[in-house]
Amino acid sequence: MITPVLPTYARAPVTFEKGEGPWLFDETGQKYLDFAAGIAVCALGHSHPKLVAALEAQARRVWHTSNLYGIPGQEELAKRLTDASFADTVFFTNSGVEAMECAIKMARKFHSHNGNPERYKMLAFEGSFHGRSLATIAAAGQEKLVKGFGPMPDGFDQVPFGDHEALKAAITGETAAILIEPVQGEGGIRPVPPQCLRGVRELCDEHGILLIMDEIQCGMGRTGKLFAHEWSGATPDILASAKGIGGGFPLGACLATERAAAGMTGGTHGSTYGGNALAMAVGNAVMDEMTVPGFMEHVVKMSGLLRQRLAQLVDEFPDIVEEVRGEGLMLGIKLKPEAVNGTLVNNARERHLLLVPAGDNVVRILPPLIVGAEHISQAVETLSATCIDMRDSAAVAAK
Ligand SMILES: *Cc1c(COP(=O)(O)O)cnc(C)c1O
Repeated sequence: MITPVLPTYARAPVTFEKGEGPWLFDETGQKYLDFAAGIAVCALGHSHPKLVAALEAQARRVWHTSNLYGIPGQEELAKRLTDASFADTVFFTNSGVEAMECAIKMARKFHSHNGNPERYKMLAFEGSFHGRSLATIAAAGQEKLVKGFGPMPDGFDQVPFGDHEALKAAITGETAAILIEPVQGEGGIRPVPPQCLRGVRELCDEHGILLIMDEIQCGMGRTGKLFAHEWSGATPDILASAKGIGGGFPLGACLATERAAAGMTGGTHGSTYGGNALAMAVGNAVMDEMTVPGFMEHVVKMSGLLRQRLAQLVDEFPDIVEEVRGEGLMLGIKLKPEAVNGTLVNNARERHLLLVPAGDNVVRILPPLIVGAEHISQAVETLSATCIDMRDSAAVAAK
């Protein structure tokens, strides 16, 4: 019999009822170190006092009025995001996929607005992930996402990750935009090298194509800059943000230049909930914390420490861990084919360390950005114990 909750997730046998900073507590009071952070969402950890205060204060005033009226929190957050980025304008959503939908619609509208409605196709990369709507599964194109959900919306093609020549060859007079995650998340923590990102930008400029960056996972401080593309110097025309931007409150945003957004006039797009008063209270509080001097430096420093400690695991367990990769506090360990990422994640969870599996046999390590050196030490010790377990059970299996 089907469960009352649609069974689309294979859930781990644990539930949490309280959180504090990088810690989660299950219903029996047992403590877990949370290096999953709700899949890179809880950037400021759990129950951050400033976020709690902002949400509580707003909850006593007004929750929701709709976008039929002015929302001061939107004006404030949009101003702060545009001041701090490439963008001139922002549309607020409740999730990442809605930010991507806005980005895709905007890119198509841009070309039709400029008299080129035939330019509607998007080029994306193999191994990418852009959400679960029809348009975004069509964009990613992966079999496991699209199977049984056809026919897919027209106008989405994929090229191999990191293949600049294939990307060039795939461009036609119908190409509207290129869609790229500066660091692939679900695909297995695969960063796009800065010179490649700049190369994609040049290609877009050459052909009058818009560049859409999906920074839903890698943005909002995750790599030690507000947005990951800042490390490369290449900027997008349109950017989708979500996850960390709300620190756990459902919030997303589509950022764009004035030029790219030119066709998005009154009535062309909307959302009932997007950017409501509650979401904006939390979004502004997240921005307050991320703009405190030293916040990004802390991310970079903790990243260096974590990377260094993870590199020791590669040396210590060469039969299990192949390499460490990623940027900032968006790190992954790629396992050897003999070691299965899901097994490692489960073993670590039993040892009260939460991690996230990803594609390409990678284990994602996504601590809250407020993590301290002591938490990193503890996490790596647990990972080490987990690797010993895996090595021992492989030895037993070989006998
Ligand atoms: C999580 C994610 C999405 C989808 O976000 P939702 O909030 O689940 O809709 C899209 N793109 C990337 C890169 C993501 O990591």
